[in-house]
Amino acid sequence: MGTVIALANQKGGVGKTTTSINLGASLVELGQKVLLIDTDAQGNATSGLGIQKSAIENEIYDVLINDVPIKETIIPTSHKGLDIVPATIQLSGAEIELTPMMARETRLRDAIDDVKGDYDFILIDCPPSLGLLTINAFTACDSILIPVQSEYYALEGLSQLLNTVKLVQKHFNKQLRIEGVLLTMYDARTNLGAQVNEEVRKYFKDAVYKTIIPRNVRLSEAPSHGLSIVDYDIRSKGAQVYLALAKEVLAAHGK
Ligand code: ADP
Ligand code: MG
Repeated sequence: MGTVIALANQKGGVGKTTTSINLGASLVELGQKVLLIDTDAQGNATSGLGIQKSAIENEIYDVLINDVPIKETIIPTSHKGLDIVPATIQLSGAEIELTPMMARETRLRDAIDDVKGDYDFILIDCPPSLGLLTINAFTACDSILIPVQSEYYALEGLSQLLNTVKLVQKHFNKQLRIEGVLLTMYDARTNLGAQVNEEVRKYFKDAVYKTIIPRNVRLSEAPSHGLSIVDYDIRSKGAQVYLALAKEVLAAHGK
């Protein structure tokens, strides 16, 4: 059975999508079969992996709202072994449409059950909010990976995030745990980076990955080519750190 990891932080622009794509591709490089589920109406994970809108027949919206089986939404990416369930702007209405529905918090979990046996890892790229889509991800997953941007106020909002985790643990998913906390967009040239690193480690202790993701231009260029960093520039620092992260994740799962 595949391990389901949600990548979440209700702040936008902290590296959720970049990490979803590049951790996903790196895990595949290390021999894993990976499904990435895009649950952000921005569809950045979808476009970042080169999926054209015209190629999308069904998407995560149809799974959550129209009971389309998740298998009918899966698209292979150009990176063999990495598949995606795409999202489009249509998903922006889903939170409101889910609200009056039966089993509204467990719809993603129920859908994922069908494909858990087909993958080693299923990564869920969450939207920048703690609404019903993120609750669905937390209910469906085994653990949460929290990217934290190495910036002022890095820890801001994380207590709300952890409160949401507690609520989901209580009502829907007792086994839910924190997979790890990842420092992103680290700039070694500033004191700020070091300060944030220290602060985050004081707060999350061993949950923080040894691997730190630096700012790397190649990482920001890759999505406009529809490629993961592994395919765009395997020799870049960005590729090396995401491969190192993937090794840490595998080790944490005894692989
Ligand atoms: P989120 O999904 O949390 O909103 P993204 O992964 O989309 O965040 O990242 C926000 C922006 O920062 C994107 O334009 C992305 O390309 C860029 N970015 C993310 N991580 C890095 C990095 N390590 N180095 C340089 N740019 C990055
Ligand atoms: Mg995103």
